[in-house]
Formats: sequence, C-alpha cells, structure tokens
Amino acid sequence: MAKTATSINQTVIETRHYLHQHPEVSDHEFETTKYITKRLEILGYRIITPKGLNTGVIAEIGSGHPVIALRSDIDALPIQETTGLSFASENKGVMHACGHDFHMASLLGAAELLADEQDSLKGTIRLVFQPAEETHVGAQEVVHAGGVNGIDAIFGFHNKPDLKAGDIGLLPGGLMAAVDQFTVTFTGVGTHAAMPQFGKDPIIALTSTVNALQTIVSRNEDPQKTAVVSVTHIDGGNTWNVLPEKAWFEGTVRTFDHDARAVAKKQFIEIVNGQAASFGVTANIEWVEGPDVVNNDAKLTKIVEDETQKHLNLVRPQPSNAGEDFAFFSQRIPSVFAFVGSNGNSDWHHSDLKLDDNGLAPAVNWYYYVAKRLLSEL
Ligand SMILES: [Zn+2]
Ligand SMILES: [Zn+2]
Repeated sequence: MAKTATSINQTVIETRHYLHQHPEVSDHEFETTKYITKRLEILGYRIITPKGLNTGVIAEIGSGHPVIALRSDIDALPIQETTGLSFASENKGVMHACGHDFHMASLLGAAELLADEQDSLKGTIRLVFQPAEETHVGAQEVVHAGGVNGIDAIFGFHNKPDLKAGDIGLLPGGLMAAVDQFTVTFTGVGTHAAMPQFGKDPIIALTSTVNALQTIVSRNEDPQKTAVVSVTHIDGGNTWNVLPEKAWFEGTVRTFDHDARAVAKKQFIEIVNGQAASFGVTANIEWVEGPDVVNNDAKLTKIVEDETQKHLNLVRPQPSNAGEDFAFFSQRIPSVFAFVGSNGNSDWHHSDLKLDDNGLAPAVNWYYYVAKRLLSEL
C-alpha cells in the first residue's frame, strides 16, 4: 500500500521530538546534518551537498526537468528551554524555539512519501535543508555553494503558532518583511554637567534624533505602505554629573517593498546627520542590510493556492514583520513561502514555546502535494 501522511504520522512526530531534543545553533548543525543525511540515504536520495557547505544537506530524487526545490531550515537558538516537555532540549542553553524541528520533520516526512513514488516522478525533487536561518546567512551560504543552481522553483514554509493546526496561510507578494539594522554613534565633547557650554552634548542629540526618526513612518513613507522604525537600545554616559563624549543607539527598520525600504534608509541618514549637525556633534552610522522581503511569485502562488485548497485548509494570513532569509532565494528564483499552523502557546523565540504535533501531517501533505503539482505544471 502506498504511504500517506497519516500512515507515516507517528514516525514524523518521533522525528520532530528527536530533533527537538538535539538542537544546534546556526552554522554548528553538525549532528543534525548527519542525522538528515542518513535518513535521506536510507530513503534512496542522492546526497549532493556541495563541498562549500559545512552544515546543511542538499539531496535529490527523480531525474530531468523540472527541478523543484523544497526547503527547510535546520538551526536552533541560544535559548534555555523552559517548556518542561518530555522531549525538551538536551543541549543546555540551546532550543528549537522557532520550530525548525517542525520544518525538518515535515520535510523528511514529505521526502518519504515522494521516495515511495520515485519511479513515477516526472522531474527532479531537490531537498534543501539549509543551515543558519536565524543569523540570516544560511540561504546565502547555500546560494554561494551552488546548492540551488539549476532549479526551476523553490518553496517552503514557516510554522505559525497563532494559526490553527491544519491551516495553510498563503498570499501573493510580500509575506515577511525586509530587515535592516542600524547602529549610530554620536561623538561630541565631554564636559562637567554643570558647565554644558564648554562641551557638545551627544545625549541631547541622541534623544532628539530618536524622536525625529519616528517621523520617517508618519511623514515620509507612503501611508498605504507598511514600515516600522524601532530604536531598541540606547547607551551613553556613566555617571550623574558628567556629560559624556559619546552616545549610542541601535535598532531596526522593517518594510515590505523596495521603495519603502529605500525611503526609510535615505531619510534615516538625513535625519541623523541633520540632527548631529544642529547639535554640533558628529554621527557615525552603520547600516546592515538583512534579508529582503519574502516575496511570493504571483503566478506560482496561484498554482500553489489551487493545489492547497484541494487537500488542506487555505487561509489568508497577516504578513509578518519578522524577517526570513528564504528571501535570498525568493529574490532569485520563482518561489512561494507559506505559513503553516502550529497552534503554539506563545510565539517564535520564546523559551516556553510548545507546538502542536497535529500540524505536522498537514505540513507533510502540503510539501508533498505542492511538489507533485509543480512537477506536472512547470
Ligand atoms: Zn527564528
Ligand atoms: Zn524560524
């Protein structure tokens, strides 16, 4: 009898629990890599992980065109787990608090169903188990190593704790935000707190700037577009009666399209430099571009939505202001990224996050049905 998501469900659940017990942080997923490789070899996959990739697994089954890639991330976070689960992390200070164990188990489940039909597959299925999603470098590592060369489409998902188990959230266009990170240092002239006229105060420049930055969203961005500017960390001075020489802050910008992203950066730089000049201090800005928008290809999303609603509960999700380094794939290759319900008790990156195993079978089915549909359609 042909295998189904139901018939292999127990194995998928046990796989997730095993992986949950053995989390590894970004770019150090050595045991996870060995485990996935072994499981895929047993299923008959060709392991084609490029030499340039220290962790992560790329594998194929089937032959010829099209080549459809299915992606899961594999890394965990430096968080001490507090769930009290029977299968809680055995690695102190490391936890699958983003549910990448859920993703891996689902993709291994789909891999098993697809391997079961390998003789009748019309084209090639490539599995991309990518490292280091949390540090936003893993997808680039895969791209640079050649791990996605020659593929026609790539799709993947992130579990979503606020969606019910069984829900599959899809929409065309931006699903997850572009992430930018900034650090600003103001340098003035330190002086006695009682004699400010002899110094150049970086603290007053900083507080004024932090307020002024809030006008980027309210006065510069198109009101029909979404943008967030958050200053999250400030530091300056170390006692009550001295005005310091330096003051510092950092934070992040989240946007959903290239125009909004460009407007935010340009205006940020103008405000910081303008404020610095007005207070007679200098500003040093470090701007780090994180992942771009996770952008779902309109044509492909239509096909994936059509297939999804034949088998599963399709829902229209809210886009998330979180970032995802799947964007490094979606900026190059036609792609679709979904949210899969995991019915969690809290949210991503929380030490008490527990996900619902009932979400696994729908996730397995989603990978499986979409893979087959794309093989027949592209
Ligand atoms: Zn995460
Ligand atoms: Zn994640």
